[in-house]
Amino acid sequence: MADRILVVDDDAPIREMIAEVLTDCAYSVELAFNAENALEKFKVEKFDLAIVDIRLGGMNGVDLLREIKKISPNTHVIIITSYASMESAIAVLKEGAYDYLIKPFEDMELIVSAVRRAMDNLHLFKEKEQLVEMLKQRNAELERANVRLSELAVLDGLTGLYNHRHLQETLAKELARATRHSRDLSVVFIDVDHFKNYNDTHGHQAGDFVLKALSEIMLHGVRKGDIVARYGGEEFVIILPETNSQEAGVVAEKIRLLIEKHPFTGKDTQPNGIVSVSIGVSSLSVSCASSSALLAAADSALYKAKSAGRNQVVVA
Ligand code: GH3
Ligand code: MG
Ligand code: MG
Repeated sequence: MADRILVVDDDAPIREMIAEVLTDCAYSVELAFNAENALEKFKVEKFDLAIVDIRLGGMNGVDLLREIKKISPNTHVIIITSYASMESAIAVLKEGAYDYLIKPFEDMELIVSAVRRAMDNLHLFKEKEQLVEMLKQRNAELERANVRLSELAVLDGLTGLYNHRHLQETLAKELARATRHSRDLSVVFIDVDHFKNYNDTHGHQAGDFVLKALSEIMLHGVRKGDIVARYGGEEFVIILPETNSQEAGVVAEKIRLLIEKHPFTGKDTQPNGIVSVSIGVSSLSVSCASSSALLAAADSALYKAKSAGRNQVVVA
């Protein structure tokens, strides 16, 4: 689309002459006969450039310049002045005019080159604005990607639970906090019973589906500040801050029961006709003060639950 120019001059032959020269240079030119007429046009149309005579009947060119800048800050304004008022030419530049032209025009080429300079500047400005906008969008996209990446770094791909690494980091932090402030802390170790049998009977995909459903059940069975993680394979660990061994035993039993009661597809082919889990619980009060010792105690309680017939909770 051609750049749009509004020529504002109360002298009809002059504004028409300017319009002719600029139209010949492929600009789209409109005419206004005074400031009020120019403002009416500005309210309904957009102009890239206004060429304004400093002396207009009614509102003068400088006042018009200010009004144009209010309505359309990015429109460049070139003021036409006369030899007799160089001071006012400087004053209009201070007011925000892009350039000035001096009347009477000795060479029409001067008008064309002033307009070209203004338009080049305007195009550069628009390009810069577009670049800034594009950079803003890219930054926002990058931020979103970074958030997603940091989420992915701590989550397990299959279940969406926290992964093994995040579990270890969180347990170390929770343990340090609990030890420092003499608070309770418990760990629950969960292993699916006879899961190999389930996979062998129904296939790995069906097995994956069970692991996802188990994750949901565990998430629903704990409080907001508890951390549910996939330890690996068909093993899960839940960190229970501010929870002693007796309370942790209750949480573990609740989860065991929820799982036992859940109508998993294909459960009938499992031993005892249910998908079940064995659970070991250990607590800071009972165990020693390292996360690996806490996990090992929960693991050994889990082993006892397996040996004792599975589908049960053993508190260390
Ligand atoms: P137990 O009661 O003694 O725990 O018996 P189990 O069959 O659960 O134990 P075992 O350690 O023999 O087998 C664990 C099974 O878990 C074998 C493995 O294929 C399955 N498993 C581990 N990770 C995944 C997984 O991501 N998806 C599926 N579908 N199965 C998995
Ligand atoms: Mg296992
Ligand atoms: Mg198992």
